[in-house]
Amino acid sequence: MPRPIQAVVHLTALQHNLTIAKQRVPQAQVFAVVKANAYGHGIEQVYPALREAHGFALLDLAEAQRLRQLGWQGKILLLEGVFQPQDLALCAELDLSFSLHSPHQVAWLAAFAQQSAAQFDVYLKMNSGMNRLGFQAKDYRAVFEQLQGFPNVRSITHMTHFSDADGPRFSQDGIQHQYLVFQNTVQALGGLTSVSNSAAILCHSEHIQSDIVRSGIMLYGSSPNYPKQSIEDWNLKPSMSLRSEIIAIQEIEQGETVGYGSQFIAERQMRIGVVACGYADGYQRISPTGTPVLVDSQRSQILGRVSMDMLVVDLSQHPQANIGSEVVLWGQSSQGTVLSIDEVAAASGTLGYELMCGVTARVPMQVL
Ligand SMILES: *Cc1c(COP(=O)(O)O)cnc(C)c1O
Repeated sequence: MPRPIQAVVHLTALQHNLTIAKQRVPQAQVFAVVKANAYGHGIEQVYPALREAHGFALLDLAEAQRLRQLGWQGKILLLEGVFQPQDLALCAELDLSFSLHSPHQVAWLAAFAQQSAAQFDVYLKMNSGMNRLGFQAKDYRAVFEQLQGFPNVRSITHMTHFSDADGPRFSQDGIQHQYLVFQNTVQALGGLTSVSNSAAILCHSEHIQSDIVRSGIMLYGSSPNYPKQSIEDWNLKPSMSLRSEIIAIQEIEQGETVGYGSQFIAERQMRIGVVACGYADGYQRISPTGTPVLVDSQRSQILGRVSMDMLVVDLSQHPQANIGSEVVLWGQSSQGTVLSIDEVAAASGTLGYELMCGVTARVPMQVL
């Protein structure tokens, strides 16, 4: 028997969440963002459920290659563009679109026209205020006009990315400012735009015109503006469940402690369960006593420090729990009870993004 931990990928949840994205922005093309190995789910695992997307977006050329090997013939967008001039040859071979965020990438593209007749759909990225990637608004038009003269540019989509789309309001929170900076420049130029991430799709679709949306975290069943709104509020379903089992049980007396550092001290006699899951599986060591779990589909909590291969849960309210009882660290129990990854992340001072990306290679994946 293998160690009883697994990460379950739920194809029906991915399909459902993609449908929700399409319903939020019915006029838009919905690109599924599958960077970071599909947010830790595995590109091969999620692909069958996401092939109804209008395109895929990611940033690693090897991942793009894997998508092509799976048979995807539609659009693929490289969100960070190419990293070195030679990448353009692979983009030509695999028919990849890419963002252009900096002058060096434009220079490489110009040079590539000398050696290849390949043509590309490019996404010209504006830095509208996040100050990560993109051309400043004042420089944008000149680059756009320069690209129009390139023989290897087939189309130019205007692209930007929001820093605060998960913020409380459209105005006052930065998104309106960025959107105005973007619109003031690109409106006069014409052409398609790609603006919205999950938070903008869910929270701001009435204010934002984005012909191509880049939907990431919402596809995986995490709410970008938790705790203001939960996945139940958005009608999203968890696409990943981290499940394990109880492998040992201890009865402890009042005053006894649990785990390394004796961080948890029992206030009364209690029954506790040891679970085959630790930080080497991707469960955060920083998750404190009280972080929620499901034992046999009923809520409980972890106790004491998470160790490398194990953690401990409270069984005081779970007299039926025994060796082999299912423990859900996040996601769905086999009975269908949901423990949202956002709730676990919030208890651990992080985001669902980090938890799902952090599941380690030793955890077997199962596709349901
Ligand atoms: C990751 C990413 C997205 C998707 O963001 P979510 O918040 O997961 O929806 C969209 N656009 C860009 C440029 C990204 O890097």
